[in-house]
Amino acid sequence: MASQTRRDYYEILTVERTATAEEIKSAYRKAALKWHPDRNPEKKEAAEAKFREATEAYSVLSDGQKRAAYDRYGHAGVSGMAGGGGMNQTIYEEFQDIFGDFFGFEDVFGRGGGRGGRSRAQRGADLRYDMRLSFEEAAAGVNTKIRLPRQGFCAACNGTGAKAGTGVATCETCKGHGQLHYQQGFFSISRTCPSCQGAGQVIREKCPDCRGRGRVEHTKSIDVRIPPGIDSQTRLRVSGEGEPGSNGGPPGDLYIVVEVKEHPFFERRGADLYCTVPVSISQAALGAEIAVPGLAGDERVSVPEGTQTGTIVRLKAKGLPDPHGGGKGDLYISLRVVTPSKMTREQRKLLQQLGETLTVENRPAERNSSFFDKVKDIFG
Ligand SMILES: [Zn+2]
Ligand SMILES: [Zn+2]
Repeated sequence: MASQTRRDYYEILTVERTATAEEIKSAYRKAALKWHPDRNPEKKEAAEAKFREATEAYSVLSDGQKRAAYDRYGHAGVSGMAGGGGMNQTIYEEFQDIFGDFFGFEDVFGRGGGRGGRSRAQRGADLRYDMRLSFEEAAAGVNTKIRLPRQGFCAACNGTGAKAGTGVATCETCKGHGQLHYQQGFFSISRTCPSCQGAGQVIREKCPDCRGRGRVEHTKSIDVRIPPGIDSQTRLRVSGEGEPGSNGGPPGDLYIVVEVKEHPFFERRGADLYCTVPVSISQAALGAEIAVPGLAGDERVSVPEGTQTGTIVRLKAKGLPDPHGGGKGDLYISLRVVTPSKMTREQRKLLQQLGETLTVENRPAERNSSFFDKVKDIFG
């Protein structure tokens, strides 16, 4: 497992094999400060390799058990113990007081601390889009396109933010390094340059199209399929259509929040529909076939003879489709007997004649009260 080309840990830290723990620690501190990438902006990669090497050596030699294993068996004795980058947590904590937050120790090992102000991959934000649908649209389902404002690269300046032909200049504040170094006692602390946000370059003249931002707003149209029968307050997720991520992070999601307008005639309870339909006293008394407006055109409904107000007729599968694919709801029609008003003299006479013939036998049975209760239950 051990590579023949790996350097000796003592050699890396330039200490004797008999060095004390304190000498090893001091040697590592010197090496870490010397090779920290932030202090070697011109040869960052080479410095980072040296820094990692020193840290690996220290992680083994500072641990009595690992050091003993290394002394006996060499690299093979500690492979898997010190492994590439898995040993940093304790060292980081141990040296945090030395390096401080701004030294960027975490960044060197890609632990994503980000406290030094460096950029790292971030998922884009989720977006919300409110969609108002008519009752009929929600019932039938909709295939539609929605247009969303998006941030994209400015084509005029290729995302640089500089006006065409003017280019960029080296940042005066940081002299192009992107980082500012402060000496604090023995240690150097580096921070992202506020003038160029770490880019090391500034724009001479701003691109007129994007006003120097390098990004422009454009609209993107997204195909959206609203399933039939969708109800208010439903959230539909469109994966990956949120805001773009930064520094190579994934985009967020788009949430479409549906609001369905109320219907003037139908009341909705889940996939079932409820409505009230007036019938005349003759229709109610004699029975009749009437037309009731349904979602898909008129529905024929037979009013039974002797119908009372509150009689409920159920039309199976004439409600709304279940958006989750579970068939259709029912349509409940509550019949309301309408007493005639503004009658002509002849109508009054006919009704009077009828009235004289009515006996107690013509009265509805007691079950009418249960009809009333039933309607109350359903219609609240
Ligand atoms: Zn700068
Ligand atoms: Zn531009």
